[in-house]
Amino acid sequence: MLFSSIIFGPIKSRRLGNSLGINLLPTDAKICSFDCIYCECGLNDSTKKGNIPTREAVKNALSLELEKLKKQDITIDTITFAGNGEPTMHPDFKEIIDDTLIIRNQLAPDAVISVLSNAWHITNPKVYGALLKVDNNILKLDSAIKETILQINHPNNTSFEVSELIANLASFQGQCIIQTLFVKGNHKGNLIDNTTEEEINAWLNALKTIQPKQIMIYSIDRETPIKSLEKIPSSTLKAIASQAKKLGFNISVSV
Ligand code: SF4
Repeated sequence: MLFSSIIFGPIKSRRLGNSLGINLLPTDAKICSFDCIYCECGLNDSTKKGNIPTREAVKNALSLELEKLKKQDITIDTITFAGNGEPTMHPDFKEIIDDTLIIRNQLAPDAVISVLSNAWHITNPKVYGALLKVDNNILKLDSAIKETILQINHPNNTSFEVSELIANLASFQGQCIIQTLFVKGNHKGNLIDNTTEEEINAWLNALKTIQPKQIMIYSIDRETPIKSLEKIPSSTLKAIASQAKKLGFNISVSV
């Protein structure tokens, strides 16, 4: 499923409440530095390029939508950067965040600004600085084991060290929320499961280094491009959350 406009919603989000979405990617193609097996936008398709919206177009579309919602007396909890891929890949991401802060303060001062990101571009100083300005800097960490990240997230760049990724996440000094999707399944002959004891121990150790202000865990909720994936039962998610809580983390489970 692809979002067919720059602004979408408001939609009821499991994790964020009444959420007005911003899609900084093309409306007819997904662009992402990951190719997660569970991605609701589908798998990457290199034959489709599409056009990304300009900074000006995003600014105008957001202002118009917030003015419309205000007239209709509809309040939103969050303005959320999500959409058809990875929002931080937009070349004007920093400037768009600056515009959004101004527009939010004028037209929806009670709404927070959230970014759902795969965390792959946080070493870019412009992206890092922009993420520090938003209320909810929500960064993906589906596993702390390299092989599992390769199996679940399929990053374009496979030459990475997990220790570096974790150190980069820790560089936010707590100004981040870690989002983790737990899933099981089979893909290309590989058994995938990021809920094993080995996985959870590695993940908890990574969290001890990162010290996020919050953790969000969940499982698949809608149709996924790889049909063999299984939703993790809420009892398992709650058991994982209880281990994180024992370590003092603020963790929420979305079921
Ligand atoms: S990071 Fe997000 S947009 Fe990119 S492939 Fe994964 S789920 Fe899809």
